[in-house]
Amino acid sequence: MDIQCTNCGQVLEIEDKYAGMKFECPSCSTELIAPELAVAVAVIPTKNNESSGTGVVVAAFICLLFAVLLQFFSGNLLFLLYSPLYLVTFILGIVACCKSRVLSGIFYILGSIITPAIVVAAQLIFLGTAMATSETLAEMEEEETVLNDKFITESPSKK
Ligand SMILES: [Zn+2]
Repeated sequence: MDIQCTNCGQVLEIEDKYAGMKFECPSCSTELIAPELAVAVAVIPTKNNESSGTGVVVAAFICLLFAVLLQFFSGNLLFLLYSPLYLVTFILGIVACCKSRVLSGIFYILGSIITPAIVVAAQLIFLGTAMATSETLAEMEEEETVLNDKFITESPSKK
């Protein structure tokens, strides 16, 4: 490992077996302590995991939100296009769990299960009202054709 002298700033190369031991800087004779290896190893990967994990979770959340918004404004077909996205999110969740990022893994899996469920429910409600409107429109058209038929059958008899 490399450590820097706190007094003169010189970078010193120390063998790992001297971790936690005191020694003197060869340039200025300041007493220095080599850092414990276990601490250094434990701190650095945890920080990296947390930052990258949070970034990926935020990105996945934005993707899911975008997919939901698109589906709301475009109808049924896009659900087929976005179902692979949910599948990928689900797989990413399992992968994250395997890499001991359990929290982000659970977030992925829940997101990939809950979001399609919400979208399907919302689309069922939306399609239900749409079908009701089209039914009333069809009824109105039928009434119109009946009226037209009456007009056509009645008009020649008046002549
Ligand atoms: Zn020094």
